[in-house]
Amino acid sequence: VALLGATGSIGKSTLSVIRSHSDKLKLYAVSAHSNLSLLERIVSEFNPPYVVVTGNRKPKFKGNYQLLMGVEGLEEVARLEEVDVVLVATLGTVGIFPTVEALKRGKRVALANKEVLVAFGDVVKRMLRDYGGEIVPVDSEHSAVFQLLLERKWEVEKIILTASGGPFRGYSREQLKNVKKEDALRHPTWNMGKKITVDSATLFNKALEVIEASRLFDLEPERIEVVVHPESIVHGIVLLKDGAFIAHLSPPDMRIPIQYSLSYPERWGSPVGVVSLDYFSSLSFEKPDFENFPALELGYRALREGGTMPAVLNAANEVAVNAFLEERISFLAIPEIVKRVMDLHEVGPAFPLKRVMEADYWARQVAEGFIANWKR
Ligand code: NDP
Ligand code: MG
Repeated sequence: VALLGATGSIGKSTLSVIRSHSDKLKLYAVSAHSNLSLLERIVSEFNPPYVVVTGNRKPKFKGNYQLLMGVEGLEEVARLEEVDVVLVATLGTVGIFPTVEALKRGKRVALANKEVLVAFGDVVKRMLRDYGGEIVPVDSEHSAVFQLLLERKWEVEKIILTASGGPFRGYSREQLKNVKKEDALRHPTWNMGKKITVDSATLFNKALEVIEASRLFDLEPERIEVVVHPESIVHGIVLLKDGAFIAHLSPPDMRIPIQYSLSYPERWGSPVGVVSLDYFSSLSFEKPDFENFPALELGYRALREGGTMPAVLNAANEVAVNAFLEERISFLAIPEIVKRVMDLHEVGPAFPLKRVMEADYWARQVAEGFIANWKR
């Protein structure tokens, strides 16, 4: 396994899975961006032959490894013959580069980094068609639907992704005006990196996931629904032609979908111990609040408009989330800024990769412009 983004939340959960299945999995390469002290501990425990650092600081610790720097390093380890699976758990859009290299060599990409599929869906689709690698989703909802859809004879009407609703579920617009960064970073059910935690509070996470699902399962936006399910036990549901719903349930622990992305098509022993049915004692479902959380509608809009629009939504959101985390804009400004950038964008084709990079760059500049003049 080449684990890209080993020092992050998904990275650490993946290491735990590798630790408990050391007879089947060998960590062959790892990457980190800035957290070199954690990287040192990972290297001393797992002894991977290759280490990549994407940030500027070079590690100085000892070990029997080959050091590679930058995005080229990510690409190089994705190409290694010894690597069968590349687990992409980096942040943002850099994940596209190793993804392309792995797919070109017919490998499996276990993909956590959803921004890659959102922005570069067309590029990835062509790679899969021309080279025949595979993408196995790590994102819990997509892993659930992936597993449900393995039963090919089912005639699927719709897929339904669940959303926890985040920390502000049920809040009025008035209440949302005053929420702080600390409130947004307190997710009720999942323990994740900062960016995705804020995305879960705005519901941009679910907007990205609707786009991700459309790419993975080749479904039009009308066939993808979102339901709020605060317990985060049911991850994905398919509605069949005859009116039956089939759902996938598990505790909210990313080690389960991570392990499946590595074991598929096999199933291995539980990475989280035994789970009893008592765990699932109450399950509730409600409609998402499209009015106070406009992110979701923006996601559907980007998908319908297609081309470079999903990349623009993604880039503008990333810039706005960073500004929110730096306390330069309010919570409600995040979707507002993304909408304004989308309104200004003229959709173009999302192929080749360079076209998407240009749209991504454009959206970041425009979003920064709005933020610089934003009244708090
Ligand atoms: P974290 O912020 O916890 O970790 C991000 C990882 O990427 C770290 O290893 C970090 O290195 C590295 N990184 C940061 N910036 C860069 C960069 N510019 N280039 C290369 N690597 C970089 O994020 P998560 O683990 O929460 O999320 C990772 C991805 O998985 C995201 O795309 C997210 O949407 C997706 N995801 C996460 C889920 C979760 O439960 N956390 C669930 C589903 C999807 P360092 O720490 O050394 O700086
Ligand atoms: Mg998810």
